[in-house]
Amino acid sequence: MKLFQKRPELVVDLPSVDGYELYGPDGLEEWLKQLKVPYTRVKMTKTRGGYPSFNQIEEALHKLNRKYPLITSLFSIGQSEQGRELWVMKISDNVRQDEQEPEFKYVANMHGNEIVGRDLMLLFIQDLLENYGTDSSITRLINSTEIFIMPSMNPDGSEMMQRGNASWSDLNRSFPDFTTNDNHNTATGRPAEVQAMMKFQAERRFSLSANFHGGAVVVNYPWDTSAIEHSQEELVKNLSLAYANLNPVMSGSSRFKNGIIRGNEWYEINGGMQDWSYYWHQDLQVTVELSYEKWPLYSELNGFYQDNRESFLAYLKMIHQGVNLQFKKEISGSVVIYKVEDGQSKFVKKENFSGGEYHKVLPPGEYQISVTSGDDVWSDTIMVTRE
Ligand SMILES: [Zn+2]
Repeated sequence: MKLFQKRPELVVDLPSVDGYELYGPDGLEEWLKQLKVPYTRVKMTKTRGGYPSFNQIEEALHKLNRKYPLITSLFSIGQSEQGRELWVMKISDNVRQDEQEPEFKYVANMHGNEIVGRDLMLLFIQDLLENYGTDSSITRLINSTEIFIMPSMNPDGSEMMQRGNASWSDLNRSFPDFTTNDNHNTATGRPAEVQAMMKFQAERRFSLSANFHGGAVVVNYPWDTSAIEHSQEELVKNLSLAYANLNPVMSGSSRFKNGIIRGNEWYEINGGMQDWSYYWHQDLQVTVELSYEKWPLYSELNGFYQDNRESFLAYLKMIHQGVNLQFKKEISGSVVIYKVEDGQSKFVKKENFSGGEYHKVLPPGEYQISVTSGDDVWSDTIMVTRE
């Protein structure tokens, strides 16, 4: 593996006892042969095997949007390199307003050949919409959350059945990274799909997200890029467990204890989306690997949905475990949070807020919150209970 670090254009993926996957430009095989490195070609599926095309996914989203106009809004956050729209479905009550509710997002298919997440997101959207008004827990979630679901962040890649985007950029290695030289949160020079995501994230206030991949079955939590512990290690672990506990394949995993792992402990990646999301936007994000095969039989999709449905819901609900402050829209200021334990107040974080709202996912416990807006100071004690 050391050898490959000299060639930053090579991408190592999913190491296991059997080896790892290596992606790179033309000439890679010749190079490996020269070095006498043993390898086999990754089996690439050549046929779509019944999976919908990008146009069919697009049509399905429009259809759902027309059928449920009061609780959905479908919009594009930009275009892929080849000009395909990067669709996001917002699901919420009063969907055309920006309400003071916590904002959640699921993003799938940033690796084009990891297809399962894309179609599961479509099924999940449909499931949420069909159960609105009848299932009380789903109704409550939609009424109290702004849910954003992006079935495909890499439509060109999934059309071409390849990992990277149209020019082979690996989108999950193309975000700013606080441990490398690429440590400025600027969009210039990055793949179009990454630029669109960066702009979208900067315009919203996400406090919890997940993104979906394939090739293993596990929840991977930050950091990926560094071996240091995340400042909220306990919380990110519990969020991961909220997902993995309800997926029978994950919780029964013989390879990953309880179906979760700290990214860096598995393998280091630089420029990943989950680390960027928290480091620059305080949006907690985990990476969910959904299927051992990246492009499994289409007929298996319903089984994958059954395995993940409760996890999708449980993880989404976790956004309500924390503080949710709502003021008048024009109010901005700063929030300081202390955790109260054994009569002691321990500083947790200080953050600015605007638009009259502040949402933060926190571990259960007692917190002292102090809000400053202009000359006004307001403080309170809040109990955060387990979701
Ligand atoms: Zn992936």
